[in-house]
Amino acid sequence: MTRTTYQCPCGARLEFKQDLDKEPGTVTPNWKCKDCGTPVPGMTAEKISHQHPS
Ligand SMILES: [Zn+2]
Repeated sequence: MTRTTYQCPCGARLEFKQDLDKEPGTVTPNWKCKDCGTPVPGMTAEKISHQHPS
């Protein structure tokens, strides 16, 4: 399984579901960096949201 990571402009490395903030109340999921609130590209966020530390 290939692991997806996203380097946020704020310096945070987004790798797991808990690194993301899901904006509620929207039809399409709106993922943001947990630290700074910068939107994360949907395709990347979707992959990250399925990753959990084991
Ligand atoms: Zn960030």
